[in-house]
Amino acid sequence: MSLDWMADALCAQVGPDLFFPTSAAGYRQAKQICDRCPVREACTAAAAAYEGTSHRHLRHGTWGGHTPTTRTRRSREAA
Ligand code: SF4
Repeated sequence: MSLDWMADALCAQVGPDLFFPTSAAGYRQAKQICDRCPVREACTAAAAAYEGTSHRHLRHGTWGGHTPTTRTRRSREAA
């Protein structure tokens, strides 16, 4: 899987800490950036590929505007 899309990732411009929040407010703040990111679709697909069917507790941070919980839900729905 190509990772060329990461060159246009907005999170790379603001730093990674914001994307590993410890509160719901932090996740909302990260999601606001993901909502404007031009590579959100590729990011969401990469997260799904990397994480497979991992349990929610093995997932970390925000990818494509999705929390570990929402990525778990999406993975189950896709299975
Ligand atoms: S959509 Fe993905 S690449 Fe874009 S800012 Fe969010 S986490 Fe980063």
